[in-house]
Amino acid sequence: MMRNPDYDVVIAGGGMAGLITAASIGYNSKGKARVLVVDRNHESEPGKKTHNGWTCGDATSKRSLDYLAEHIGIRYGPPELEHPVKGVYVYSPDRKTKVLFEGEGYLFNRKLAPRRQVDDARKFGTEFLFRATAEKLTSEGGYITGVSGRKSDGSGFSYTAKIVIDATGSSSVLRRFLPIPSMIEKEIDPDDVVGTGRYIMDFEPAMDSREYFDPDYCIIHLDQFIAPAGYAWVFPKGKKKVNIGLGISKSGLDRRNRRFKMNDNLQSLIDKYVADNPVIKKAEQPHADSDSGNTKWNWQVPVRRHNDCMVANGFAVVGDSAWMPRPIDAGGISPSIYGGTILGKVVAEAVEAGDAGEGSLWRYNVEYMNTHGYPMASFEVLRRYLQTVTNEQINYGMKHFLSEEDVTAITERKHPQFNRARLMNPGLWFRVLSQLSLARGLRYTVAKSASLVDINLAYPETPAGFEAWKKRLGQELRETVEKFKPLDVAN
Ligand SMILES: Cc1cc2nc3c(=O)[nH]c(=O)nc-3n(C[C@H](O)[C@H](O)[C@H](O)COP(=O)(O)OP(=O)(O)OC[C@H]3O[C@@H](n4cnc5c(N)ncnc54)[C@H](O)[C@@H]3O)c2cc1C
Repeated sequence: MMRNPDYDVVIAGGGMAGLITAASIGYNSKGKARVLVVDRNHESEPGKKTHNGWTCGDATSKRSLDYLAEHIGIRYGPPELEHPVKGVYVYSPDRKTKVLFEGEGYLFNRKLAPRRQVDDARKFGTEFLFRATAEKLTSEGGYITGVSGRKSDGSGFSYTAKIVIDATGSSSVLRRFLPIPSMIEKEIDPDDVVGTGRYIMDFEPAMDSREYFDPDYCIIHLDQFIAPAGYAWVFPKGKKKVNIGLGISKSGLDRRNRRFKMNDNLQSLIDKYVADNPVIKKAEQPHADSDSGNTKWNWQVPVRRHNDCMVANGFAVVGDSAWMPRPIDAGGISPSIYGGTILGKVVAEAVEAGDAGEGSLWRYNVEYMNTHGYPMASFEVLRRYLQTVTNEQINYGMKHFLSEEDVTAITERKHPQFNRARLMNPGLWFRVLSQLSLARGLRYTVAKSASLVDINLAYPETPAGFEAWKKRLGQELRETVEKFKPLDVAN
């Protein structure tokens, strides 16, 4: 490990994942580790994803926040938590079926949350370099030894560190140009990224319809025409305040446009979705400081499984840069909480032990996979399948094949079994046979997800086992990717 570096740890990117990692290192090292967070934003606007704000649906589960409180003693409250919800209602495209995924959650104020998170990290002695863009990792002898870049005044900076953490989000260049040999995958397939966008708005309810706005529940609308290969959402931020938007895959949108001879893009789809909402009228973007500069924008989210390896000598990735969001709903706040908390602990131990090598940081791979990663990563199969089904199939599947147990399983981040899509109950034969390809697809998804869970839970304890493990994973996934090639399905 590097002798007398400027810092023990430099974290590039002070967003949700980077700031939680900083607090976790501080907590686990009892403030002894010397940590610097480098972020391109002005100090008054920490955590801003792009020039256009803190673009997010803002929703997260109470369960993840409880995990954070339990493991590093930080409990968020108002104003960074803006509004509580009791669960999520998912509507079928024909709106005839609505399924409740129960479970308390919160809508963050993503602009205010990082201010609180910076304060939390500072209490452990974390230092900050704002208005500085990390551009390049430096290396020596097969180890990452630091990071360099440019400040907003044009001057350069360069810091050495025992460990550099890439928490720069979904557009990371550090991971992509990692200058040492490693098992970290550098590039993501464009089809594994969804384009998402949203408005935050105050409005006057024009009517009362819980299908379109519910102050106590998040609403998700599944519809391959409105949000091809994705979904649309209406999340309450108060009784008359909303986060409304949608996410799509680019190829899904192209297929839908081809089929209907349309020329929509992400923004036109969002605008149409907002305009068609009969409750949200007289809407305007909020002017309060807590929302200004953060009311409209689009940004990308990775929706594959997380990077199969997240560490190298003197280096780790976390959050969107590690492709952590959940494949089926692009939720990346919970993974950032779990990932940052675990990484912080492992890094604090590595610094204490004087060993920043891949082998020492490997525990992060293992613990993340065993704690939060294995079901998340296995949802890749369901996501791929859902991107191929038609609205008619979703209507039918939600009405006839989704059981209460399936809903509970998904709520608990487990895999649904879709037992109603099996031919074991003669009473259900008619249903299964009338939608045989849907039933088969669901059954295949269940079986493949289960084997992926098994593979993920057999994640190697040391780097030595990685190659064989990855080969097994690759064999399992190849067939699925081939089978679930999206078709021109929107209807
Ligand atoms: C429209 C939309 C809706 C979403 N809805 C939800 C939702 O409802 N629930 C949910 O759980 N997740 C949601 N997500 C995903 C969630 O927002 C992300 O997963 C989460 O913010 C990831 O945190 P992060 O810290 O990894 O990255 P980011 O939040 O992107 O933070 C990265 C930080 O690094 C800084 N940075 C970037 N590059 C550099 C550089 N080179 N040098 C220095 N600093 C740099 C950025 O300015 C930023 O401060 C949504 C995402 C989008 C786009």
